[in-house]
Amino acid sequence: MRIQRSSYQWSEFDSPPYKSYTLSNFREIPQIRNLSKQLQFEMEVVANIFPFKANNYVVEQLIDWKKVPNDPMFILTFPQKGMLQPRHFNKMASALRKGIDKKEIQKIANKIRLHLNPHPAGQMEHNIPKLKDGTKLYGMQHKYKETVLFFPSQGQTCHAYCSFCFRWPQFVGMNELKFAMHETELLVQYLREHPEVTDILFTGGDPLIMKTRLLSGYLNSLVEAKLPNLKTIRIGTKTLSYWPYRFVSDDDADELLELFEKVSAADIHLAIMAHFNHPAELSTDAIKQAVTRIRKKTGAQIRTQSPILKHINDDPKIWAEMWQKQVSLGLIPYYMFIVRDTGAQHYFGVPLVRSQKIFREAYQMVSGLARTVRGPSMSATPGKIQALGTTKVGRVRAIVMRFLQGRNPQWVQRPFLAKYDGGAIWIDGLKPFEGEKFFFEKELEQLLRKDDSSAGNETSSAGGGPP
Ligand SMILES: *Cc1c(COP(=O)(O)O)cnc(C)c1O
Ligand code: SF4
Repeated sequence: MRIQRSSYQWSEFDSPPYKSYTLSNFREIPQIRNLSKQLQFEMEVVANIFPFKANNYVVEQLIDWKKVPNDPMFILTFPQKGMLQPRHFNKMASALRKGIDKKEIQKIANKIRLHLNPHPAGQMEHNIPKLKDGTKLYGMQHKYKETVLFFPSQGQTCHAYCSFCFRWPQFVGMNELKFAMHETELLVQYLREHPEVTDILFTGGDPLIMKTRLLSGYLNSLVEAKLPNLKTIRIGTKTLSYWPYRFVSDDDADELLELFEKVSAADIHLAIMAHFNHPAELSTDAIKQAVTRIRKKTGAQIRTQSPILKHINDDPKIWAEMWQKQVSLGLIPYYMFIVRDTGAQHYFGVPLVRSQKIFREAYQMVSGLARTVRGPSMSATPGKIQALGTTKVGRVRAIVMRFLQGRNPQWVQRPFLAKYDGGAIWIDGLKPFEGEKFFFEKELEQLLRKDDSSAGNETSSAGGGPP
């Protein structure tokens, strides 16, 4: 049935009412009740430590229940036993079996969480910008010269949570974002003081969890400020994947598209940085509608990104299919990330050398239009580091890398070598091919020391999710 909606565009259906599932009600899902009691208990154990949230669209349209427990979309959204080390799993399992009270469970959970590197990548202290008058801008990050990250306070949750998400500490309340009242005023002020900034990236959580009314407050202030340096507004989001009705048939879907149009009309490029981890997320009627509606009229461009994840997409065929589907829909493949060193990295992580091989094989399967993708890359303390492959120097094997973004822009695009290590998952696990230190390390220490004098208590970081 076609329904004429306001002045904007038609939509083929109405949104189903949004229904959220968490630890407290996941056993209401009929498909979950069909699973063994053992599996249900395992999910409960893990969901007491890592955040868990799914919704009816994910459950009914993205997960292939015939394939559960091995279905990738199931693994992506429902807690998995392997996400915890056995000793942590057993500790929580026995606490739950004893039926001790909630406060005690919470205490045990927090103790375990502290063992899971909840503050990775030194992003905590190092990227908090300041206004000239000394005001610290919590809820913003400025790491690379041209791009500022902005974490709107009402955009710090998601329509569902990815089980691998490195922002898990934020979602379990370990480090909530504090943010001042006049958020956009301070943001605009900062952009005026920093003409080198061309891009602002709204990130979270997921900024498109916000109602259009709230989001338009932010975007309108930026448009109305007429900042000559501001060329691009990016929005990092998983809403296309987890709740595409946001763009199609939700109450304020049309207003959202009108807002996008308004940004484009002000000659600011609007880039939707969309996360897709698996081709299943690109295959429903709702996502196709959502993409059509965004692309047809708003002028916004959709770019895509995902980490490479064991149990979900560690196969070149999956990536090739995903990129091809994206190109068919008119989306631009942008980044493949390596999962960072926090939370359940031991479960989802794919070694650098293997990631690069998967990337290369997938890249070889697709046409040039899908080769806009970059990666696999680590968002680490010194910058975004891409693994380029392996080589030999004389007879000795080496891993070749380069910076795609650097804390010092001069580091970018200079190939450098590490000793070959097929098991390494992160830059910290690699040794320089020659000498004691990588070429950037000494300078990095100086840069961080300089930063430390203005250290604050930052709470969120970008990378594995939105760049
Ligand atoms: C990835 C990233 C960006 C954006 O980098 P691009 O290469 O321009 O996409 C900006 N800030 C941070 C902290 C990032 O991790
Ligand atoms: S990866 Fe993005 S969408 Fe997924 S839970 Fe994390 S912030 Fe939310």
